[in-house]
Amino acid sequence: MRAAQDPSNAESLRIAALNLIVTQAHKRQALSPICAALVSIAIWPVGDHFRELVWVGLLTAISLWRHLFAVAFLRAAQVERSRKHWEWHFFFSFLVACSVWGIGAWLVMPADSLAHQALVYTFTIGMVGGASVLYGVHRLSATLALPIIFLPSAIYLCSFGETFQLILASGGFLLMLAANRGSQLMIESMRRTIELTRELDHQAHIDALSGLSNRRAFAETGERMCNSNDSVALLMIDIDHFKAINDRYGHGAGDRVIVAMGELLATMAQPHQCAARVGGEEFALLLPGVDLIESESAARRLLEQVRRLRIEHQGIALQCSVSIGYALSRAATDDRFSQLLIQSDRALYAAKRAGRDRALAFAAEMDASGATSAIARKQQRG
Ligand code: GH3
Ligand code: MG
Ligand code: MG
Repeated sequence: MRAAQDPSNAESLRIAALNLIVTQAHKRQALSPICAALVSIAIWPVGDHFRELVWVGLLTAISLWRHLFAVAFLRAAQVERSRKHWEWHFFFSFLVACSVWGIGAWLVMPADSLAHQALVYTFTIGMVGGASVLYGVHRLSATLALPIIFLPSAIYLCSFGETFQLILASGGFLLMLAANRGSQLMIESMRRTIELTRELDHQAHIDALSGLSNRRAFAETGERMCNSNDSVALLMIDIDHFKAINDRYGHGAGDRVIVAMGELLATMAQPHQCAARVGGEEFALLLPGVDLIESESAARRLLEQVRRLRIEHQGIALQCSVSIGYALSRAATDDRFSQLLIQSDRALYAAKRAGRDRALAFAAEMDASGATSAIARKQQRG
C-alpha cells in the first residue's frame, strides 16, 4: 500500500509542512516590503508615487501581521490539536500577501518604459522563486500563490502584444512550471522522511520475533500507566524449560514457540493493555484498571490457553507451559512501576520454585532470594 494513502501519514505530512513553512516564513517576513521598496525607488522617476507608497505600506502591514501570527504559532504549545485553525490562518494571510504583491507589481508597472517594466517583472519573478522555495512543501500554497504573484504582471506585459514583452512574460511561465515541479519533489522527499521516521520508531518499539512491544516500549507504557491513579496489574510470564525445547528440537523450534506465544498474547491483550516480550523467553502483560480477581482470572486464562497450544514445527506438534507471577498496584507512588516489576518477578520466581505451569500472586512474605530480573535490576538502577 502506498504511504500516501495512509491518513495518519498524510496528516503528519501536513503538520510537518505547516511547521516548516511557518518557521521559514517567520524569519523572512521583511523581504517582501523591502523588495517592493527597492522596486519603488528604482521606478520612482517614472512611476505613480501614490500607488508605490500604498503598495509598500500594505506589504509592510501584512508582513507585521504575518510576523505576529508566526510568533503566536511558534509559542503555541499544542500546535497539533488546533492545526487546522493555524493552517487556514496561515494560508489566508499568505494569499493576501501574494495578491498584494502581484496586483501591486502590475499597478506600479510604468506603461511607457520597457526597462522599468522589465525591472519590476524581474523582482516579481524573484518573489515567485523565493515563495516556491519557502512554501513549496505546502501544496495548496505553492499551487495557488505562485500564479497569483506573477500572472497580473505577465498578463499586463502580454497585453502590449510586443515581441519583447511576450518573451519577457514567457520567462515567468517557465519559472512557474519549474517551481511547481520543485514543489512536488520537496513534498515527495518530505513524505519519504516521515515514512522512514515512522518505520524507525516502529522498529525501536517492536520486538522483531514476537511482534509484541519490546522491553523499551514496555517500560515506557508501564511508567505511563503507573503515572495515572488507575490500578495497574503486571503479569510476568516465563516459558518453562524453554532451553530443553531448543536443545531437543533446535533453535528454530524455540523461535517458533516464541512467535506462537507472541500471537497468543497479542490476541489476548485489549487495545488499552500492553503485551511485551521483555527477555529471551520472558513476556509481560500490563493490565490497567483491573482488580486482583480480574488479574487472577487473566493469569489463569493465559495458563489454560498455553496448555492447549499445539505449535506446528516441521511436522512436530510442540507443547509448552508457562509460569506466571503477577502483582497489582492500586495507588500511585513515586516508584510504582519498579515496585510492580520487583513484586511480579518475585511471584514468578515463587511459581517456578513451586513446580512451574502455575500462576501466583505476589505476597508480602515472598522474598527476592536474589531473583530480581534483568528488567527490575535495570529499573532499580535507572
Ligand atoms: P525455566 O523453566 O527455569 O525458565 O527454564 P528455561 O529453560 O526456560 O530457562 P533458561 O533461562 O535456563 O533458558 C532460557 C533459554 O532461552 C536460554 C536461551 O538460549 C534461550 N533463548 C533466549 N532467547 C532466545 C530466542 O530468541 N530464541 C531461541 N530459540 N532461544 C532463546
Ligand atoms: Mg524459562
Ligand atoms: Mg527466563
